[in-house]
This record gives sequence, C-alpha cells and structure tokens, in this order.
Amino acid sequence: MRCIYSLRMNIALATEVKYLKGVGPRRASALASRGIQTVSDLLGYLPFRYEDRIHFSTIHDVAPGGIYTIKAVVSDYGVARFARGHGAIYHLLIRDPTGTLPCKFFHGGFLEGRFREGQNIVVHGKADLDPRRPGRIEMINPQFELLSAGATDSTEAGRIVPVYEAIGGISSRMLRRIIHCALELLPLVPDSLPRPLRERYGFPSRGEALQFVHFPPPEAQLDLLNEFRSPAHRRLIFEEFFFYELSVALQRKQAERRPGIAFRVREPKIREALKRILPFKPTNAQKRVLAEIAGDLERPAPMNRLLQGDVGSGKTIVAFEAAAIVMENGYQVALMAPTEILASQHYLSARRILERAGYRVELLVSGMKPAEKRAAAERVRTGEAQLAIGTHALLEDPVAFARLGLVVVDEQHRFGVLQRKRLMEKGATPDVLVMTATPIPRTLSLTIYGDLDTSIIDEMPAGRQPIETRWSDPRHLPGIWHFVAEQVQAGRQAYVVYPVIEQTKGTGEKSVEAHHSLKAAIVEYERLSKTTFPKLHVGLLHGRMRTDERAQVMEAFRRGEIQILVSTTVIEVGVDVPNATVMVIEHAERFGLAQLHQLRGRIGRGGGKSTCILVAPKSAGGESRERLETMVATNDGFAIAETDLRLRGPGEFFGTRQHGALGLNIANPLRDTELLELARKEAFALVNEAEGELDPTKWLGTLSPEWQRRYQLASVG
Ligand code: ADP
Ligand code: MG
Repeated sequence: MRCIYSLRMNIALATEVKYLKGVGPRRASALASRGIQTVSDLLGYLPFRYEDRIHFSTIHDVAPGGIYTIKAVVSDYGVARFARGHGAIYHLLIRDPTGTLPCKFFHGGFLEGRFREGQNIVVHGKADLDPRRPGRIEMINPQFELLSAGATDSTEAGRIVPVYEAIGGISSRMLRRIIHCALELLPLVPDSLPRPLRERYGFPSRGEALQFVHFPPPEAQLDLLNEFRSPAHRRLIFEEFFFYELSVALQRKQAERRPGIAFRVREPKIREALKRILPFKPTNAQKRVLAEIAGDLERPAPMNRLLQGDVGSGKTIVAFEAAAIVMENGYQVALMAPTEILASQHYLSARRILERAGYRVELLVSGMKPAEKRAAAERVRTGEAQLAIGTHALLEDPVAFARLGLVVVDEQHRFGVLQRKRLMEKGATPDVLVMTATPIPRTLSLTIYGDLDTSIIDEMPAGRQPIETRWSDPRHLPGIWHFVAEQVQAGRQAYVVYPVIEQTKGTGEKSVEAHHSLKAAIVEYERLSKTTFPKLHVGLLHGRMRTDERAQVMEAFRRGEIQILVSTTVIEVGVDVPNATVMVIEHAERFGLAQLHQLRGRIGRGGGKSTCILVAPKSAGGESRERLETMVATNDGFAIAETDLRLRGPGEFFGTRQHGALGLNIANPLRDTELLELARKEAFALVNEAEGELDPTKWLGTLSPEWQRRYQLASVG
C-alpha cells in the first residue's frame, strides 16, 4: 500500500498523529488514551509479535485447521441475499492455478463495492470445514490485501508481518497502515545516540531501526524479532536505557556536588544517645547498615540511600538511630509514611523510643483537628519539634522546617519519586534515607533507584520462628475460628483480614457483581463479635474510620485490650504488635502476592510461633493458585518479589505510572538486563568524561525534542 492519498505534507517526529492519513479525531483520541500523541510516540508503539507470511501456500495445500497465506485472484463475490445490511455475510471466492477457495466475512456489509473480478489478492487466515456443506473448506474473516496489478509493495503480503496490539477500535492492520504512511512520509529520523556508541556496538541508526522493527525485511530472523533481540530492537532498547541512565548519572553527579551537612557521628555523646534508645541487641545486619548510614551522615555530600529489608527485619529502629544522630547534631528529622495509620504507628513507637530519651516528636497528618495541626506545624517551624512524622501532608501543606537535616521516607514502594524530591526541596539539602520492604532484584533497583546507594538488612532479629502458612478452603472456617479462639485464650492476639469494607448493594455493575459474594469487614465484624467470639474482645479497623479512631483502635490492640482485630488492608504496612501471632485472611485469592506478604509480615514479630491462614477455595486456579502456593511455600521476601515480578511484569509491579515515567516503552529491565547494565556503564562513563560540562541544559540542547521530553520526565526521578 502506498500513501498516494495523503497530502504531500511535511511531517516530523513532533507532528501530531491526528494530521496523519487515516487518523481522524476518533482514532486520534483512542491513540491519545495510550499516550500516543505524536509521530514519534506512534513509532515507539512496537509490534508485540511477528508472523511469518513469506511463504505462500496454494489453494491445493489448504487443509482444515491450518493457517495459510495465499496469493490468488478474485473470482466471485457478493452479499448473502437473506442478510443484507448490518450483519450481512459477505462471500468472496478466490482462485489460483490449483483451485478455488470460498471466504466468508461476517458483518461484511462494509465490503460491498471493494472487489472486482480478476483483482490480485492476498488472503491470510485459518481454514475450516464448512459446517453446512460437508467436505468443503472455507476461510472465515481472513485478513486480506488487494494488490494493484504488478505491485510488489505491500504492508503485508510476502513479508514477515508485524502484529500490533489493537488500540480501541484501531486494529493491528489499521495501525500497520498508519505507521507505514508515517514512516514513508518522514524525511530523516535524527539519531540522538552518540555516534561513537553506535559504532562501538554496531547499532543501526534510529531511522533504520524503526523501519526494521515495523517492517522487517523478508530475510530477517523471525525468532530474533519475536524475542525483541534483533539488532534493531537492541538498539532501541539500549537507547531508552541509555538516556534514562544518563539522567541518573547526571543527577548523581549533581547530588555529589551539592553542599550537604557533615554530621558529627563519632562523639561519645552520640554513642551514648544511641545506646539509650536501643531497646534490644541489634542484629549484625542492623549494625552494618547503621555504620553505612553513619558514614554517609558524616560526609559533607548529602546522603541518598535506600534501606532494603524484608518486613519485620527491623528497619524502623535503624531509622530512629539515624534520626538520633541528626537530632544530637541540632538538626530536625522528617519521617514520612505512605498511610496515616502507618504514620500514627511510627509516631507511637517514636514516642516510646525517642521521646522517652528526651527528643521532641510531632505527628502531622490530615485527620488532625486544624488547631492542633497548626500548633504542631508551628513547633516544627520554630525548631521546637525535632522529629516530625506524617504522610504526604508533610509535603502538601506549607510545613516549614527550622533546620531540616534528614528525611526518612518509609516508602514501601508506594511513594512517588516526585514526592521524595519535593520534600528534599524543603530543607537545604537534607540527607535522604528511603526504606522499602520490597526486596528488589538488583537490576530493577538499579533502574528504579539508580541514583541511590543501597543498604540491605538480610537477617531477622534472633528468636524469630518462621511463620507457618496454610491454605484452607472456606468450608473449614469453623475449625479455623476454633483455632483462633484457642490461641487467644492462650494469651495471643489475632488479625482477621477482609478485602472490602462494606457489602455493596448490587446494581448490576460488574465491579459490584465481583464484590457481591465478598465478605465485608463490617458485616463480619458484627458476626464474629456477637456470634463467633461473644466472650472475646473483638475490634474493627478500616480505612473509612477517622484517624483518631483508628489510632485508638490500634493502641487498644497494641495494649492487648482488643484480642481479635477485624480489619481491611489498612494494617498492611508497618503495623507492629509482636503479641499478635495469628492471621486469618479471607478471600486470600483476591490479594496480590506482595500484599499478602506485607499482611503476613504483621505476625511473626515476637518470639512466639505464628500462623497465617489463607482462606480461599481449594479450587482456585491460575495466578491465584500460584500466589497462594508461593505464600505457603516460602517466607522469603526476595523469592516472593521475584515471583510477583514474573506474574505481573515490571509495569504493574511498580505501578504503571511510575514505570511509564521512567521513559521505558520498549525496554524491559527484567528481560533486557544485559542491555541495561551496558547502557548504565556507558552513561556513567560519558558523564565522568564530560566532567566540567555538567550543565544539563547543555546536554538537553543536543538531544531530539523527544528525548528532551523523556529526559525531563526521567530526571524527575
Ligand atoms: P520493619 O523492617 O518491617 O519495619 P520493624 O522495624 O517494625 O520492622 O521491626 C519489627 C519488629 O522487630 C519490631 O517489633 C521491632 O521492635 C523488633 N526488632 C527490631 N530489631 C530487633 C532486634 N535486633 N532484636 C529484637 N527485636 C527487634
Ligand atoms: Mg516498617
């Protein structure tokens, strides 16, 4: 197909797709919903697989069940008389020297007027037996392409055909045509990858690579294409990683040059302060990690460190120790948590551990009474408060710090990079410690947290017994409740977790339908407290309760006044009650793997033996089954993260938004690890060579507008 109908317009990478032939307003908005605004975006939308249509078959070869590409001529055509108009069946008969083959198009009314006898045509599709005429073979809804006489050029015929994921009403085929036109009209695609790099790795130019991935030549290797490992794919993938890593390298360089605070860490006064707050003997891993952090604090360059450690490995106390060092130096600390409940939880432990040691701790969350909150913010502003704990509120409200020295972000991988940056801007250049309970495989942590140094707590506090996890069918609930009651009578506490807060009244909507049979926390709380455990103290915790109510419930649970806590996933992160050793999760098949692991991490925190019971139908299949089996099989957060990553892919794993903001469309850090490491090495080398030329605006100027845009996005992180 040629773009003969298109205006002889000049298009550029920055041209909006709506000006392309074949893209009207409706299609433009469908494309926009996928983030495709410009020709450049469009060319970045790659086929997800390729089909071999180089080898034509003859009609004689056709057998039922096979998929064939046939070059033929139109012999006869027409609409079935009984079904004219919408829903009509369009019949097409094609012939080649070996025979004839009927094709049927359901809803084929739109095809009227398209065919002429004797036209050259290529059809591609699956052959089947005609159910009404025994022994006769036909093709239903084949893809077809009409060739002009003697034409060799085609987007489909005789080629390895790229298959795109359809976007809204835009089929793979339509996309192929639109992209074909765009590539044909585009003068020259500028190459932003530095030439020495291109030469060193023998990469094709950007233009060649795009041409190749969208319209591979017949001699291209199909398997390489399908694995995204053709030279063209590798170049495009490398390029994405390279620019991402370039921004990371620049940021690192800039961060190293920013004047930070050189805290004193070696004085006896500080050692004593640390001893005073430690309620237990730290593990070796905790000691090592604290030494790494202290080393950063001591250096004048600002710290940018990621503290990784599985749930329950004891990150909080390490953060408190770092906070104590900073406060002893006369600076303030901000501690940010992803949820109010976790902020409150941190506040409670900070008061227990730090306030008792004489530090002044302040909670700042949006659920507080305005007057209280104003007063708290004022104490932060004057410097009277030394440690401020909160959620995003610490960023969004105009909270000013007198002398902010350290920011601790308890990220649990939910905290956006943007927020981290905004908070850093609040102090001069405070040191930053990000804590995460998601053990991230190294390649991924390089991508996501490439600008951070990493410390890992890879050891659990002594005396922990592994949590025993069971998967039970809902039929066994009576036995499970019996077990819970026994444990509580023996002095333990239990969590019972539900996926929803309230039963929704059915209105026929799909999402409501899906929740219809789900037990809701409130209803179950009523039943459990009145009928199942009438003699025990049962509490309720969910996200729609006011902050102070939630804090009260949590505190009562912590003190043991509540024995069984019925809850939604609000307890997912950070809640710490060592005496709670039993967790029952109903509808466990509904939860994600990371979420289940986080939930389970709420137990097994003391010396006692802990049990987690996942209640889900034994008949659960597919990914649900794999998640549940993984949970039963292992307590190792690292193994769980890897499975989770494999099941969900990196986009979902990190939240699509954040993944997208990395500017990675084609590149997949999991699949393309080797290219990622290569790109990282090259980007860092380039930045080191360019010493003195580190003004990023200079760099930006040399990049294509597309990369400038991506660079700006990436550099946000
Ligand atoms: P997480 O890494 O999930 O944030 P926490 O810091 O909340 O873990 O610690 C989990 C529990 O283990 C808490 O009850 C904490 O007091 C306890 N803990 C932490 N470090 C030690 C240690 N070295 N020895 C004994 N208990 C510890
Ligand atoms: Mg924690």
